[in-house]
Amino acid sequence: MKIDRVEATTIEDTRGRPTIEVTLEAQQGSTLHSNSQGRTLLRATASVPSGKSTGSHEALELRDSESGSVEQAIENVQFEIARAIMGREFASADELDAFLIELDGTPDKSRLGANALLAVSIAAQRLFAQAEGVPLWRAIATRAGTTPKAPRLYVNVMNGGAHADFKLPFQEYLLVVEGKTSEALPIAHEAFKKLGERLSSTELEASGVPMGDEGGYAPTFSDLQQPFKLLAELVQEFPGTSIAIDAAASELYRDGAYHLLDKTYTPDELLALYVHAASALPIHSIEDPFAENASEDFTQITAALGDKILIIGDDLTVTDPARVKKAAERKEINAVLIKPNQIGTVKETIEAVRATYAAGFAAVASHRSGETSDTFIADFAYGIGAHGLKAGGFAQSERVAKYDRLLAIEREAGAV
Ligand code: PEP
Ligand code: MG
Repeated sequence: MKIDRVEATTIEDTRGRPTIEVTLEAQQGSTLHSNSQGRTLLRATASVPSGKSTGSHEALELRDSESGSVEQAIENVQFEIARAIMGREFASADELDAFLIELDGTPDKSRLGANALLAVSIAAQRLFAQAEGVPLWRAIATRAGTTPKAPRLYVNVMNGGAHADFKLPFQEYLLVVEGKTSEALPIAHEAFKKLGERLSSTELEASGVPMGDEGGYAPTFSDLQQPFKLLAELVQEFPGTSIAIDAAASELYRDGAYHLLDKTYTPDELLALYVHAASALPIHSIEDPFAENASEDFTQITAALGDKILIIGDDLTVTDPARVKKAAERKEINAVLIKPNQIGTVKETIEAVRATYAAGFAAVASHRSGETSDTFIADFAYGIGAHGLKAGGFAQSERVAKYDRLLAIEREAGAV
């Protein structure tokens, strides 16, 4: 395939921050939909999300230092990347990604920007799927060598941590819903609504429940147990559901201790808290229970709870195949969060998935806290047969779009 048009522009994410959107065009040999030269125009657009509680080992999201805009990243796409890829023959999306990685030439994508590269990489993956005449999820499955299947829904019902001014200690309180999307999604919506009613009936939130960055409720509790109690009630009412948390503990760690509400916890005390929670509550998974460099604490919690629940690495592994392998050697986790923009190309994201599966771990695909309407992550989750998809709460249409895309995929998959 030869790409003959590259365009990049700025759009705003759910936090109102600029991010990058790329459109690629290519021509394909003559088919039914050919133009007057006997060729078909292929066109694909992609935009990239942005994290807030980012791991320090993530690939670099290029932002202009003073304004926080992405003008330099856009310029990199429109000039250097466009000039390098236009008119060149690429046999596969993998070949194009390998070319992008080499063009950037840095280990952390800091020269051209992981945001610039990923937008091109995702748009290119879409072009190749179009050229092959297959749905995006199918093209991803073929590329990754995986068996497609519907992921569990990881719905973020309460936001805390860095996503809601630390009004709740942990960053994400999620409801995990099992089953096919068309059955799981109505259950998740109903549970979300119920929780909202309950929160707004408390004295504290009588004037309306605030919402967090990821489209879930952002209530204030001075008691660590209260959000868990509410979630446990929901799980009781809605069969096929369970609780997940993303502690995002790198954000809680200062001066050798973890700060949760007004208390400090040593790593051992925090471990005891998790062990107790996992025995008392229907907990399915805990993500980033400790700070990103606390290797031994990860190994300890996985030894203690790994046969019962998932211990997911996010800041720890940053979708980097090498870091996933290292985490496997050290037995730090038994599941990996997969976020394409932590590494910067679809190719390397798939390599991280391969490393995850080679270790016998589960993969949970994830959006970012600053999202766009792009639904690539839903196709990716389905294509790799992910254990789950974390796509946020229902108060933002950018999150709902991912769940709706899973519904569409279910229909597509049923039709073939
Ligand atoms: C996360 O930590 O899992 C997350 C989605 O948040 P962010 O995008 O801010 O890293
Ligand atoms: Mg996380």
